[in-house]
Amino acid sequence: MAITEAFHLIAKPSGPICNLDCTYCFYTEKESLFKKGTSFKMNDEVLEQFILNYIHKQNTELIPFVWQGGEPLLLGIDYYKKVLALQEKHRGNKKIHNSIQTNGTLLNEDWAKFFKQHDFLVGLSMDGPDYIHDKYRVDRGQRTTFDKIYKGMKLLQKYDVPFNILVCITNESLKYGPEIYRFFVDEGVKYIQFTPIVERVSSEQSLYLGLKHGLPPKLNTIDEQTTVSEFTVDAESYGDFLIQLFDIWVSEHVGDIFVLNFEHALVSWLGLPAVSCLFSVECGRAAMIEHNGDVYSCDHFMYPDYKLGNILSDDLAIMLDSHQQKTFGTQKKSSLPKQCLQCEVRFACNGECPKHRFLTTEDGEPGLNYLCKGYRKYFNYIHKYMKVMVQLIENDLPVSDIKQVIKGPLIVQK
Ligand code: SF4
Ligand code: SF4
Repeated sequence: MAITEAFHLIAKPSGPICNLDCTYCFYTEKESLFKKGTSFKMNDEVLEQFILNYIHKQNTELIPFVWQGGEPLLLGIDYYKKVLALQEKHRGNKKIHNSIQTNGTLLNEDWAKFFKQHDFLVGLSMDGPDYIHDKYRVDRGQRTTFDKIYKGMKLLQKYDVPFNILVCITNESLKYGPEIYRFFVDEGVKYIQFTPIVERVSSEQSLYLGLKHGLPPKLNTIDEQTTVSEFTVDAESYGDFLIQLFDIWVSEHVGDIFVLNFEHALVSWLGLPAVSCLFSVECGRAAMIEHNGDVYSCDHFMYPDYKLGNILSDDLAIMLDSHQQKTFGTQKKSSLPKQCLQCEVRFACNGECPKHRFLTTEDGEPGLNYLCKGYRKYFNYIHKYMKVMVQLIENDLPVSDIKQVIKGPLIVQK
């Protein structure tokens, strides 16, 4: 039996179906890639094959299941009870952990108790206070959703369910960095992640597929199409946004509030492999399985060209080790333009996600990240603080001491 090194396979048990209609969503539009009348529910056969193979096709003891959508809560609690039963049936000696990403609108007491009882980590999508959140996170009738999601968050807190908040940053919300951050801190949130929205406007090819956003770039080819949607962040302003939040975090919250963007950056300064695929040297070990068993190179590359096979007919380990997937992974590094190769913060950035690499450098090379200006500014800004945090760790001192250290000349004293 083929077995491979550790990998992640994000599951979409309800496909791209969602009860919301967030303007910037990159996934709900994928409904157009399926036949009309498709039933978007991972059936029992696909579910069992997925669980069985995901557990046994990788040589690792802890198997992290990640359930996403669309909106995965649409399937109801009984569906996830079946998931738990199948995991128990097939886990052998391995340990299982479940995470689920939700828009929070369907959370109620039953879900909160269920998640607590079965140790799910919940990712809750919420963009800030109502005047920011409701700008783009609307339901199918274009009605606001903040109130429902806020109640959902309070239920997670009431039942002590571990959760993190995933905040999408748009060109609009960029203006409100401190307000967004302080809103969550004041609400008692401990784990926050900021994700910049970057989408190109549709092309002839994407419209032909029924998609409203542009397709991902081919990394070695100059792409003339660089127009982004109105909600896409301005690159440099995104860097300023991160810097603004970093300043608050580093002087007030290190060790108490975990801003995953900053925690992940520290990992790079420590010289360790990136935690987030975005900043890893290569891609290829974070694939995705759709409700019908189709496996794709990555959640962000759910397009016909990136399909690796189907769980019912193809070997999962062989799909992950295929030439197609290896090329997808290594291309991230091999296609970096000279500007990145010579960049002083490449160890932390690594060109970021290939989906965002549709710009051309000043030398005329393709494959530059749309967010480059922002990342370069941000990573250079945090460098002096990161160096101090590394020194603190190397001296067995708590990283949170940086809050004191920065009041002086940035020198660590043991
Ligand atoms: S393509 Fe982007 S989202 Fe996918 S694995 Fe690579 S960095 Fe991550
Ligand atoms: S900051 Fe810009 S130049 Fe540097 S590695 Fe990132 S994308 Fe490349």
